[in-house]
Amino acid sequence: MLQVSDVRVSFGDTVALNGTSCEVADHEIVAVLGPSGCGKSTLLRVIAGLQDVESGTVAFDGEDLTGVPAHRRNFGLMFQDYALFPHKNVAGNVGFGLVMQGRPATEIRQRVAEVLELVGMAGWEDREIEGLSGGEAQRVALARTLAPRPRLVLLDEPLGSLDRILRERLVGEIREILRAADTPAVYVTHDHDEADRVSDRALIMRAGSIVASGTLSNIRATATDPWIRQFVAAL
Ligand code: ADP
Repeated sequence: MLQVSDVRVSFGDTVALNGTSCEVADHEIVAVLGPSGCGKSTLLRVIAGLQDVESGTVAFDGEDLTGVPAHRRNFGLMFQDYALFPHKNVAGNVGFGLVMQGRPATEIRQRVAEVLELVGMAGWEDREIEGLSGGEAQRVALARTLAPRPRLVLLDEPLGSLDRILRERLVGEIREILRAADTPAVYVTHDHDEADRVSDRALIMRAGSIVASGTLSNIRATATDPWIRQFVAAL
């Protein structure tokens, strides 16, 4: 289980995270939803270990991760700006994390095949990145993220660069793939529909704080705060 407790991050006068706390249970897919600038990416970067905090802690399964660098957290990152390596083929991309871990070649081949099958691209190992469609590239990126068997996957607007139709198709696929991989995930988006479809639960953020948690329909039915009501009604 991931536990974020009372995390505070500022950039000069801007308070990006204002004593933010949240939890992600084993097997749970949690969406983080909120207007631009509310602190979603900062929260994800803190969890990933890419952003230092002024105060507060991030823990996983009871282990305090303060001071544990990003590459030792065993979290999978799928961020929009982490492009695929254009000079490597599909297998080279998907197996990259395993090569970095120094895994034996036979194990890497086997795991790459397994994870490509998981994303619906069995047998695509030798394809070049250049020739892939936008949707195929996203599935390869997800396979690359999942290959080292991360204990948590962090996705920051992973479909942001794709057109609406493709996004709608892939968002359902991502949910199924994360489910099949049995990996908990935190999924940052500003799109209500995407949050609703991919996640078990959404966190609503406003100005560096989490102001609501639940399924969107549940939040819509129970929220009394006018800002939250207006935010979740805007679907
Ligand atoms: P979101 O992902 O919800 O759009 P961010 O987490 O990116 O929000 O940003 C939260 C706030 O912190 C914003 O006001 C943003 O301008 C500011 N911010 C984020 N990163 C930096 C940075 N590296 N330097 C200065 N300000 C930043």
